[in-house]
Amino acid sequence: MRLGELGEFGLIDRIARRVAPSPAVVLGIGDDAAGILPTPGTLTLVTSDMLLEGVHFDLSFCDPRSLGRKSLAVNLSDLAAMGARPRQFLLSIALPATISLEFVDGFVAGVMEQAERFGATLVGGDTCASRGGVAISITALGEQLPGRVVTRGGAAPGDLVCLTGTVGDAAAGLNELRKGVREGFLVSRQLDPQPRVEAGVALAEAGLVSAMIDVSDGVLADLTHICELSGVGARLELAQLPLSEEYRAACGADPFDLALSGGEDYELLFCVPKGRLAETEALLESLELRFSVIGEISQGSALELVTPQGGAYAPGKRGFDHFG
Ligand code: ADP
Ligand code: MG
Repeated sequence: MRLGELGEFGLIDRIARRVAPSPAVVLGIGDDAAGILPTPGTLTLVTSDMLLEGVHFDLSFCDPRSLGRKSLAVNLSDLAAMGARPRQFLLSIALPATISLEFVDGFVAGVMEQAERFGATLVGGDTCASRGGVAISITALGEQLPGRVVTRGGAAPGDLVCLTGTVGDAAAGLNELRKGVREGFLVSRQLDPQPRVEAGVALAEAGLVSAMIDVSDGVLADLTHICELSGVGARLELAQLPLSEEYRAACGADPFDLALSGGEDYELLFCVPKGRLAETEALLESLELRFSVIGEISQGSALELVTPQGGAYAPGKRGFDHFG
């Protein structure tokens, strides 16, 4: 069956039936606007991300369920980078009328699976027929106490630059997909990223981090965002970059290029005052999440990249820029 046979309201109804009730959602899907009760004393953090066929994903190599999970994951990752707990989200989709219902059901199942996993409730959205490809836009709301929210702007000279997980995997996975590979660790890092929600919230609530960002554009570009907004520079030790075995096997002669410039890993890049490193280690160990200290924040505005031999590294690309 094609989506065209179900129609717009049939689809909205099909989506709405999958949403579990939440006490904070006073008015959910069905009216002109949703009504939400915020948790008293908290700040609401709102973020939006768009995923476009041909720009962010290729239907020839992503399964609909992972696409659904990733659509929400990229938004939850932004909330995590602020230390916000996910609460509600809006889902706007443009789909060709000829698309199969199997695709739509798989996509919605993936969105809902991710939503349940991270405690986010779907409260509305918009549904349109597309004359081009598939377009997905999610707006997510999260909450945190105002004093616990972490921005990109608080890094200070002497703070340690830290990174969860490993980097470069998603970019290497995209290269594999383009070569026809359809499974494996790198491919799953590209198609099905895991937002570091628990870690972001825990680091923020423990008051350990001075600045934080999620790695969506690449380590170099995202660290540059922190430096610019904090008015600082940084020195990165490339030998400390966390690289997976699978990435090392796939990356070619220069392991640093893609690890620095490749986006979409959705790891957290954060700064910690030196005196709080031990607490940070203990916290992330309790969450069973690997993390690495990759450098230090410095005065000024320069971003220094130091090779394992102690020399200066000149990066090829600066990360992802839609208009670049
Ligand atoms: P309007 O014409 O006033 O914009 P719609 O017919 O687009 O209303 O939407 C009706 C209801 O369905 C609204 O509550 C809206 O938030 C919800 N809705 C529409 N599309 C989606 C979607 N893709 N996911 C979840 N809720 C949706
Ligand atoms: Mg509408």
